[in-house]
Amino acid sequence: MTDDRRGPRPHRPAGRPALDLWGTVTPAARPVVRELLVNGPGTRTDLARTLGLSGGSLTRLTKPLVEAGLVAERSVVHDPDNGRPTRPLDIAGDGHRFLGVKLTADHLYAVVTDLRATVLAERAEPLAGRTPEAVCAQARRLLDEMGPDGPPEAAGVSLGGHPRPAGGAGPDGTAEQLCDAPFLGWRDVPLARLFRRTTGLPTVVDNDVAALAHAQHWFGAARGHRDFALVTVGAGIGYALFLDGRMRPLSALDLNGFSHHVLDPGGPLCPDGHRGCLAAHLSTQSLLAAAAQGLRRRVTLREVTELAVAGDPICRSVAGSAAWALGAVAGTIANLTGVRTVIAAGEGVELVGAARAALADGIRQRRHRDHHTLEVSLGPDSFTEWARGAAVTAIRAFVVRDPA
Ligand SMILES: [Zn+2]
Repeated sequence: MTDDRRGPRPHRPAGRPALDLWGTVTPAARPVVRELLVNGPGTRTDLARTLGLSGGSLTRLTKPLVEAGLVAERSVVHDPDNGRPTRPLDIAGDGHRFLGVKLTADHLYAVVTDLRATVLAERAEPLAGRTPEAVCAQARRLLDEMGPDGPPEAAGVSLGGHPRPAGGAGPDGTAEQLCDAPFLGWRDVPLARLFRRTTGLPTVVDNDVAALAHAQHWFGAARGHRDFALVTVGAGIGYALFLDGRMRPLSALDLNGFSHHVLDPGGPLCPDGHRGCLAAHLSTQSLLAAAAQGLRRRVTLREVTELAVAGDPICRSVAGSAAWALGAVAGTIANLTGVRTVIAAGEGVELVGAARAALADGIRQRRHRDHHTLEVSLGPDSFTEWARGAAVTAIRAFVVRDPA
């Protein structure tokens, strides 16, 4: 049994600043780190303008970052504004590696990424066991199989639950968090601590939809958007809303209300007995039940999607109902919140993509004359993206120290 304080420490390649150093960045300088990380290298003039700072303030904030080796000056370029030679600033942590793990009821998906969430290695396996200890041990084994150029320095784990802080933090910044994961039969599991003990990595746990939304905001389809919504379609329906650059806190009850929001009182039934709610139209279970009823046999989501694309009338109808529901809920979100960008993600997205006309119908029925101003993009449908979201959780927690 490894002592919690003396877990196996990852080896740090030369030239990479220690992950702990990011913790010394002052709150005032963190937006500079975030800007360089998300939008790439920039001149001091660009950064000052983007962040609304004077040149003097920016220099004061960046000087300690350069001195600590966290931010580096790149080769000289000529400032497009004034023609003067200048050296753009960039994040210096190119060598940092992060582990992201997404758990579902029956699978574990793992990725190793760099500091900007580029996936360098990935693995997926059925869960070998469902206890927290078994899951952590399996993640440790997959980690050993990946790590193309040295082990990662921090880990993020995401799952369909709402981890809550339990007070206190380990010496490496791993906060105590208690997780309920009904789909794994877990209650009050100190998952971050267990994972850290098993892998030796500072670890943070987050809700999977929130993690995916943050990843889309920084490194995905929502990059550059201050206002957007993410709707995920899979075993459950997920929702995240960003307003003015921050994610709105939504409770488990809020999300339950969202996923059972009634779109069509004459629509199909959900397992809770609602007619025409979002889950009845879009959850994987509902899509498979509808297809199986029509086809008179059991089918997989992949089969339904392929049959819909091939023109099978039953599966086209299932795809059409799902796509209409996604359009209608995107239109409703836009009507109520003012966002103009809705990203859909999850395993049901490909099926929705087979019925784009129905998606447009759903939007039009809710947005009326203004349907052209709402952009609904069909985003990532693979579980790799969810694991990447978990890696971004680690980057947010241990590099940018982003509180939201
Ligand atoms: Zn329902």
